[in-house]
Amino acid sequence: MNALELRILKEGTVKPGNVLKVDTFLNHQIDPNLLEEMGREFCRRFEGTPITKVLTIESSGIAIAYPVARMLNVPLVFAKKTQSLNLDGDLYVAEVHSYTTKKDNRVIVSKKYLSESDRVLVIDDFLANGCALQALISIVESAGATVEGCGIAIEKGFQEGGWRIRNLGYRLESLAIVDDMDAVNGTITLREQ
Ligand code: 5GP
Repeated sequence: MNALELRILKEGTVKPGNVLKVDTFLNHQIDPNLLEEMGREFCRRFEGTPITKVLTIESSGIAIAYPVARMLNVPLVFAKKTQSLNLDGDLYVAEVHSYTTKKDNRVIVSKKYLSESDRVLVIDDFLANGCALQALISIVESAGATVEGCGIAIEKGFQEGGWRIRNLGYRLESLAIVDDMDAVNGTITLREQ
């Protein structure tokens, strides 16, 4: 069992609506040592893949993607969820329905930071139905760049995102896959990998 899987079992809590809360080490308070170790594991899994950029989505994705980009020695780009005044010029935009807030958001990346020569590793914290990941993939493809793979910290294997992304032919690596969880008795079942 890897370090992330152990932490999920130790500290993860299950909320109604199939939401796994990992605020003690990933989504609110961050354990830098764990994230560093996760970064190493992503790099190990994608070793030999020519990656020129890591792409994630604010906010929780940034802390996960940062050690990966640092170890690969490539820039990290994060998609923004709000179009602030300092986002100028041409933009790539994709729609995403948020799993946790149930709202529709736009995710935005400046055209300055992705070009058709880029080979991109897409990173995010959770994979549920796949909307966030598909929005990031569509941004990469709008730029004419190549998706080299997707790295997810926690895939909820009982939801359809993983199946969808793999079925579209993308390489998807998840450090932990939750096969079942129960908000009533608090149990979390991980897939053996
Ligand atoms: P999807 O777009 O795949 O349906 O959902 C993925 C996004 O929703 C992730 O970026 C993550 O922020 C959020 N999310 C989905 N499921 C969970 C969950 O169980 N726990 C937490 N903390 N976030 C989740």
